[in-house]
Amino acid sequence: MFSVTPDFNTDVNVHEHTMVLRKVREKKIEEMKSRTSASLIPESMKHVEEDEEHKTTARNLKELGQQRLTMEERKKRRRALDNLGIPSFEKFLADKNASLKKREIEILQLNIGLYCNQACNHCHVESSPRRKEMMSKEVAQRCIELLDKSPSIKTVDLTGGAPELNDQFRYLVSEATARKKEVIDRCNLTVLTEPGQEDLVDFLVKHKVRIIASLPCYSLKNVDTQRGSGVFEKSIHGLMKLNQAGYGADGSGLMLDLIYNPLGGFLPPEQKALEAKYKTELSNNFGIVFNSLFTLSNMPIKRFADFLYRRGELQEYMDLLVRNFNLATVDGLMCTNLVSVGYDGKMYDCDFNQQLALGMNLTKSSSPTVFDVQSLEELKGLAVVADSHCFGCTAGNGSSCQGATTA
Ligand code: SF4
Ligand code: SF4
Repeated sequence: MFSVTPDFNTDVNVHEHTMVLRKVREKKIEEMKSRTSASLIPESMKHVEEDEEHKTTARNLKELGQQRLTMEERKKRRRALDNLGIPSFEKFLADKNASLKKREIEILQLNIGLYCNQACNHCHVESSPRRKEMMSKEVAQRCIELLDKSPSIKTVDLTGGAPELNDQFRYLVSEATARKKEVIDRCNLTVLTEPGQEDLVDFLVKHKVRIIASLPCYSLKNVDTQRGSGVFEKSIHGLMKLNQAGYGADGSGLMLDLIYNPLGGFLPPEQKALEAKYKTELSNNFGIVFNSLFTLSNMPIKRFADFLYRRGELQEYMDLLVRNFNLATVDGLMCTNLVSVGYDGKMYDCDFNQQLALGMNLTKSSSPTVFDVQSLEELKGLAVVADSHCFGCTAGNGSSCQGATTA
């Protein structure tokens, strides 16, 4: 069982304090190694095979196919909103004199594959070790070509699945950083201790990749409940490895941010206050430091939508999202300055639309790919494809890939 380390709050100066933390982490990593060095994949496969939610999703997928399943899910959300007397998201925005249009594209987000060493219950992309879809070299090269042709892009944001386990991950990181772009790795932390990934931290340091990592709580019970047995301890080990390499330390230039999402059908708490709590808990209990915490709402799609529906809570959750609609979130929505590309090269306004197969609104094609445009700058001014799930981004303080969209 994971033991909590003593209180690290000391009155020594910052340098000494940092040295103390380093030593404590070193010791802790050694202690943990025997428990965290095995791959998580067999445990995740077992979970996929035995967990009722995963079994139902697999059965439905087999019976209905992905397209019908997505349509059925959409109908359920629409029905819930009809029962509440809520119009479409677009009409709802129009009634408030708002709309969603693409501004200058600054972020190229690549979902490079659905393979993951974990199989989290609320995963909005339904990843697991069973998913084998991965981006090809041809698509990856085209994304780099578009990067060259689209100077407005400042950031390449790599997601998955576990992006690091994808064949094109290191190619994309190397090419994008060579072009002086900020590169984000959306890391699940447990990948850092997967066998075969021993050199991953060094690779990330070398390219100064910014890590944005999921950690839905600072307690073992809550993390393992949402993300699977053994995930918390492996995540803590991963964070310690990153800290030892300089990630999260002031002045290192190695950014480490964490992501919180609620464990059920409720909205995240205020971001700054939760960040302070995380910093205290992780520092006091494990000697872990990080830069910022981002809070994300759970989107009512895929596994989370199924979970709510089976519990008869989908309408209640949609009601919560609509009641907490916040007009101030709209300007900061990620779909306005981001293009999301799937492993197969198809383009979307955001990763959620990607999972719902809602392609971008390009007149020449209903499911445009990276081969249909010459530059991502062509997309400026395009209307964003919105639907009922978008209420998940505009509730409370807002929700985007970089957390709340309002202060
Ligand atoms: S780690 Fe992320 S991508 Fe993998 S199953 Fe969990 S939520 Fe999905
Ligand atoms: S889900 Fe969110 S980010 Fe995606 S199109 Fe809707 S509002 Fe925009």
